[in-house]
Amino acid sequence: MRLKHTLPLSFLLFTTRGRLQRSSYWIVSLFIFSTFYVLYTLLIESIGDQSTYFLYPLLLGSLTTTAMKRLHDSNCSGYWLLAVLIPVLGPIWLIYQLGFKKGDRQKNRFGTVPDEAADYFKNDLGQLRPGLKTGERIINDVTQLNPVVVAEVFRPTSVEDLRERLRITTGPVSVGGGRFSMGGQTASPQSLHIDMRGLNQVLDFSKENRTIKVQAGIRWCDIQRYVDPHDLSIKIMQTYANFTVGGSLSVNVHGRYMGLGPLILAVRAVEIVLADGSFVRASRTENPEIFFGVIGGYNGLGIIATAELDLVDNVAVRRKDQKMARSDYYSWFQTHVRSNPDAVFHNGDLYPPAYRNIRAVTWLKTTEQPTVKTRLMPLRESYPLERYFLWAFTETFFGNWRREYLIDPLIYLRKPIHWRNYEAGYDVAELEPRSRTKRTYVLQEYFVPVRQFDAFTERMAEIFNRFGVNVINVSIRHAHADPGSYLAWARGEVFAFVVYYKQRTSETARQEVGTWTRELIDAAVSLDGAYYLPYQAHATPAQFHRAYPDAKKLFALKKTLDPDFRFHNLFWNTYYQPKSLES
Ligand SMILES: Cc1cc2nc3c(=O)[nH]c(=O)nc-3n(C[C@H](O)[C@H](O)[C@H](O)COP(=O)(O)OP(=O)(O)OC[C@H]3O[C@@H](n4cnc5c(N)ncnc54)[C@H](O)[C@@H]3O)c2cc1C
Repeated sequence: MRLKHTLPLSFLLFTTRGRLQRSSYWIVSLFIFSTFYVLYTLLIESIGDQSTYFLYPLLLGSLTTTAMKRLHDSNCSGYWLLAVLIPVLGPIWLIYQLGFKKGDRQKNRFGTVPDEAADYFKNDLGQLRPGLKTGERIINDVTQLNPVVVAEVFRPTSVEDLRERLRITTGPVSVGGGRFSMGGQTASPQSLHIDMRGLNQVLDFSKENRTIKVQAGIRWCDIQRYVDPHDLSIKIMQTYANFTVGGSLSVNVHGRYMGLGPLILAVRAVEIVLADGSFVRASRTENPEIFFGVIGGYNGLGIIATAELDLVDNVAVRRKDQKMARSDYYSWFQTHVRSNPDAVFHNGDLYPPAYRNIRAVTWLKTTEQPTVKTRLMPLRESYPLERYFLWAFTETFFGNWRREYLIDPLIYLRKPIHWRNYEAGYDVAELEPRSRTKRTYVLQEYFVPVRQFDAFTERMAEIFNRFGVNVINVSIRHAHADPGSYLAWARGEVFAFVVYYKQRTSETARQEVGTWTRELIDAAVSLDGAYYLPYQAHATPAQFHRAYPDAKKLFALKKTLDPDFRFHNLFWNTYYQPKSLES
């Protein structure tokens, strides 16, 4: 898996693992033969005949491995290549099999369907390191900034399994989904870490009522594959589709949807396993205090086992964009987007380092045919171009300038039409750098009441520039008010500012990030706004309580439902009972 992501070409040409689709096989074969031809000609011209001999094993090796991967795509073992030895029929069969036969549309013994497979490094069962005791593992998150040693990792495969484990144990418990949160929210030292991704089944589905009931370890992309054939779509989720439903509910996420807001708006009910292993159902009308506490509650009250979610029609959407001065955005948004019933997705990209211009991107409902062939976004094995651009924007002179004035204008020349499901299916892997050892990409997010748009952007730009923050992008979204969750980040109608930036991993760099983050939090809170909690816990407890005034109600509920403070993670350890781990 590692080789596949770090050296995708070597993985493709020199290993026999995995599957290769028909179209990719043709492209790769063309690549192999043309590379061979170029090298062969160069060597013959410059050195002579004999220098080309070493090319033949390479040619044969790469043709064999790619052919084996192609056979795997139809669930045939690589040994079937020996069919070439059967006169006439053998080669004909092989040509058909390699070049023309469609692969399995299902997972087979050699792997999942290639364009659906690449699920971003599946965050295994935790890392092992020398010196750890039996059972101990390191749980980290996507930034690699928060390694935590847990006592054991447990991946339940049924809700009963999970309940039983809570019943028979007494110690601290932490819970992880995709582990894409960025501030240690999925782990706590010496806890029993529950990896929810084994609980990933669809339990019930009604096309007529447009609802789906799922186990909480399922990812959005799995649900998309399930509902897409019924022309339905997930109502609210993030921009990327790799996250689990449980992790998303516990954070109460949002996407780029217009007319919607926090995920809780699309939830009918949840079922929760409490600290003693008991099971409760919660909705707006049934155990409402648990419903409003567990959604957006970072696993403080219990483990979400299942969720019933709303679905909507999967419509075709056309992209429209417009670049404008930041000072014009608010009134333009009110007139063109906020009350436009055809607007499905919207975001404004605020360009660093001047923060004076915004590209407003809206996806509008259309009856025209989509311009993409596939209904769902194909997941790729690697994203070299995206990785290169992210590197170039952040590490080269005038990188941001080139993006604003050269790259984006070219990208936005196209006016694509996508399915709603396609546009909601991005793969986090496209953001993954080659290494996160010295520098890492991190997210932050701030929310302010819509009328404070100008005031907040001005303060944010000043802070970023004063600290020289390497900001890649600030994506502006819109959300309606939360109906009442205790840790609501949208207490009214808000703009969200999603900040994607690059930082060094050294202690000094982290401290500096902490300093400017606290300034930004003050800026948002002073405008009656909030900051987002799934990211690094730089906020002081006082800032946390100012941004989330109802946190005290959630803390009181936790005392009742989890009196022994079993559900731990770095978030709860920081803001609920900071001393408890020391005693
Ligand atoms: C590249 C990137 C883009 C993002 N874009 C967006 C965006 O557009 N909008 C947005 O709102 N957020 C966004 N996020 C944040 C993301 O939505 C959250 O980090 C989310 O929690 C990720 O889901 P996960 O499955 O990885 O959860 P995890 O990180 O595994 O868990 C998050 C929290 O949920 C708890 N948890 C997990 N499963 C359960 C369960 N079954 N029951 C109870 N608690 C549970 C964990 O203990 C933890 O506290 C983004 C993050 C990244 C890395």
